[in-house]
Amino acid sequence: MRVLIVGAGIGGLTTALSLHAAGIDVDVVDSARELRPLGVGINLLPHATRELTDLGLADAVAGTALSAESFVHFDRHGNRVWGESRGLALGYSWPQYAVHRGELQMLLLAAVRERLGADAVRTGAAFVDFADGPDQVTARLRDQATGAEFTIAADALVGADGLHSAVRRRLHPGEGAPLWNGVRMWRGVTEADPFLDGRTVAIIGTRFVAKLVVYPISREADDRGRALLNWLGEVQLPADELTEAPDWNREGRVEDVLPHFADWRIGWLDVPGLISGARQILEYPMVDRDPLPFWSRGRVTLLGDAAHPMYPFGSNGGSQAILDARALAYELARAGSATAGLAAYEVVRREPVNAIVLANRSDRSDVIMGEVARRAPDGFDRTDEVLSADEIARLAGGYRSISHTDELTAGSPWTLPPRRGHLASA
Ligand SMILES: Cc1cc2nc3c(=O)[nH]c(=O)nc-3n(C[C@H](O)[C@H](O)[C@H](O)COP(=O)(O)OP(=O)(O)OC[C@H]3O[C@@H](n4cnc5c(N)ncnc54)[C@H](O)[C@@H]3O)c2cc1C
Repeated sequence: MRVLIVGAGIGGLTTALSLHAAGIDVDVVDSARELRPLGVGINLLPHATRELTDLGLADAVAGTALSAESFVHFDRHGNRVWGESRGLALGYSWPQYAVHRGELQMLLLAAVRERLGADAVRTGAAFVDFADGPDQVTARLRDQATGAEFTIAADALVGADGLHSAVRRRLHPGEGAPLWNGVRMWRGVTEADPFLDGRTVAIIGTRFVAKLVVYPISREADDRGRALLNWLGEVQLPADELTEAPDWNREGRVEDVLPHFADWRIGWLDVPGLISGARQILEYPMVDRDPLPFWSRGRVTLLGDAAHPMYPFGSNGGSQAILDARALAYELARAGSATAGLAAYEVVRREPVNAIVLANRSDRSDVIMGEVARRAPDGFDRTDEVLSADEIARLAGGYRSISHTDELTAGSPWTLPPRRGHLASA
């Protein structure tokens, strides 16, 4: 079997590694002329770490990422409201990691080139269209340098081409632009002194006033006694129709984000210094798309953000793409045909991930943290002064059970027996 993967992001590259480990031949194309370590920080949930471990990448990931050991909500003065342990500290067999998105993508790319060959990923090749046939699917692609079109035939085609997926557009024509909830996000990375225990994901404030999510993402900085802090500022604006096409690489301006946080004084974190110290600020609207009624048709399917773009909340964007990749390879390897494998993949993945897309739309924690800001604008001494037991329980409960659906210690459900002469589970 030969599979064409459109898109060499975290989803597409993990799919390539997983299919290769399952003995399936792979071609990967990406429209970018060059794959560069773009983006800022993301979190990998423990089950995503488990899958990367199964792919023999545990040491490589641990070499760049930092474990995230707790998620803690604070008010805008830095007073702790509620928190919980994460990853190993919560009892999982695998760490939850905070990592630079681009570093993770480069690590996956290096593994693909090492295992599948230097030419396994063809860059500067944009998917245009496909024709599905009884024996094969044929993709039409455009060389980004020359504009010339060419075709690649395969047994299956995987659209892992992200938020603006052209493969999705072909399967679901007329869907329209991504949906915006009115939240503006500014993202950056700044080197600073470590804060708190050096392993905390801090969620400070509420987006209904201003919210900042901060966590360290670099093993290298940590080894030097410093912290490379990923930060994300969020502010809810009136949800007018989005006028720009969402672009992960759009430059933001410090003068747009800093005023929302300029008077924040937190003993353990210099927030204005963090924002003004970033080498680059990126601005992005919080968008998603409605869950799809189907991902697969014939020999074509969707994966990662192409299948289920979601608000970047709960550490699920990259994590769910990794789980998709592993499930897809497992089902294709077991199925009698490509179409049966794609259909089986969709059965195990579509409904659970669609539920996460919808859960991410609930603003439970922001609403409750909004109450904290309203009831105690100048701070508080004890949490029970500002929140009832029921509100604290609502802040704590629910979401993790949707996004962490696996056992704490059970192995991967998608491990295939190792092939002879191959380090599938090295
Ligand atoms: C540049 C960039 C920066 C990001 N930064 C962040 C971040 O800081 N924080 C965060 O939470 N999430 C970020 N994301 C999103 C995050 O990577 C995804 O939510 C998650 O990793 C799932 O990835 P994916 O592989 O499904 O899609 P993506 O990571 O979006 O990868 C899709 C790939 O498909 C390629 N592609 C697109 N159209 C075509 C086409 N027509 N033909 C061929 N190839 C195509 C793109 O070049 C890209 O490499 C970023 C995504 C990108 C592309």
